Amino acid sequence: MSDEDWGFDTAQVHAGAAPDPGTRARATPIFATSSFVYDSAEQAAAQFLLDDVEGFGYTRMGNPTTAVAERRIAALEGGADAVATASGQSATALALLNLLRSGDHIVMASQIYGGTTNLLVQRFAEIGITTTAVPVGDLDAWRAAVRPSTRAFFVESIGNPTGAVADLPALAAVAHDEARVPLVVDNTLATPYLLRPLEHGADVVVHSTTKFLSGHGTVIGGVVVDGATFDFGAEPERWPGFHVPDAGHGTEGYWARFSPQRQAYSRRLRSTVLRDYGPAPSPFNSFMLIQGLETLSLRMRQHVANAEAVVAHLRSHPQVLSVHHPSVPGTPFAEVAQRLLPRGGGAIVSFDIDGGLDAGRRFVDGVRLFSHLANVGDVRSLVIHPASTTNSSQPTEQLAAAGIGPGLIRLSVGIEDPADLIRDLDRAFLAAQSG
Ligand SMILES: *Cc1c(COP(=O)(O)O)cnc(C)c1O
Repeated sequence: MSDEDWGFDTAQVHAGAAPDPGTRARATPIFATSSFVYDSAEQAAAQFLLDDVEGFGYTRMGNPTTAVAERRIAALEGGADAVATASGQSATALALLNLLRSGDHIVMASQIYGGTTNLLVQRFAEIGITTTAVPVGDLDAWRAAVRPSTRAFFVESIGNPTGAVADLPALAAVAHDEARVPLVVDNTLATPYLLRPLEHGADVVVHSTTKFLSGHGTVIGGVVVDGATFDFGAEPERWPGFHVPDAGHGTEGYWARFSPQRQAYSRRLRSTVLRDYGPAPSPFNSFMLIQGLETLSLRMRQHVANAEAVVAHLRSHPQVLSVHHPSVPGTPFAEVAQRLLPRGGGAIVSFDIDGGLDAGRRFVDGVRLFSHLANVGDVRSLVIHPASTTNSSQPTEQLAAAGIGPGLIRLSVGIEDPADLIRDLDRAFLAAQSG
């Protein structure tokens, strides 16, 4: 089977899967097993030495159900390889820990998911990795933040929650030509259906598969996709993790052994970082992820159409001060969105409600069809008031840099009938007024 020539709608159903050779099961089975029997002492030793990287040994490092999800997402993103993890948070953590060590530095966009800001700014500081946050669209600020110890740029293709769109080709040029580091992109809000960051200069893509890739809001998961584009061989002294041999894995580093197969980054991620930190996905969750992937493009088309209907309604609403979505004209991100997001700007819509914090709280208490909860990317429409929930632990200046005001409401627009969604929003606007 040649997956390369398939269109997106075919690849999302078929890439990476084949009928199970043992049973002829057509759907990918849930391989609920912790471990796999070795053929021989020789084959067991070869697996540990990474001389045999095809077979499975222990589900912490790989599982046949999970492998189908990995190969399918790699195909949809146009990547060389992918490694699935237990959550989006662990995907981001592992993707960066595969590049960085104590003493190193990250430059990240300030308009990103609050959980990622917590991880990079607070947790990483505890292990000696420092992070500078800069406005996503200010290229000079990215340049000025680079230090000799910088080893990664981190950005969201579409920022959560305010829809700031990253100019990936411009950021990739600064990352590669000036900072000499990989560009790592969280593509959760766009999904590969709307945007494939590797085609625009990114080197590594991470996802929370909890969101649109699964779509059903039932499981937590993450994935790291490797474009195999960054040359860790050009300046070996800057990337010791890829050149110093790993205990138990022979006498060569990952770059020498696996860059010919375009798997140096992904192999190190799986066989060292995922193996040792351990946040592996459950095969059951991978099975659920596969069910979601099969309808990704169909859902995204409806998500985008509904989001655009909601944006139009909000922009004409007297209780709305401003609307944030890549499709809104006249914003600093409109030109980048037009260039990078021809299929639409996704389904996360946020807006500032007149009346600030109190009106925001009354609004989320006033919905009935929208669910008030801390998730995005479900087929169901969701709403949250970030200042009092997801982002309440962040300091005020971090919130301001992320564009999160006291009256900001974030919607994740689902695939229901748009007229019903708009009626529900109007009900909540009425509730917000009666304070
Ligand atoms: C939800 C989310 C994450 C974290 O993913 P989990 O699966 O919740 O761990 C990371 N980035 C973005 C953009 C998200 O929306």
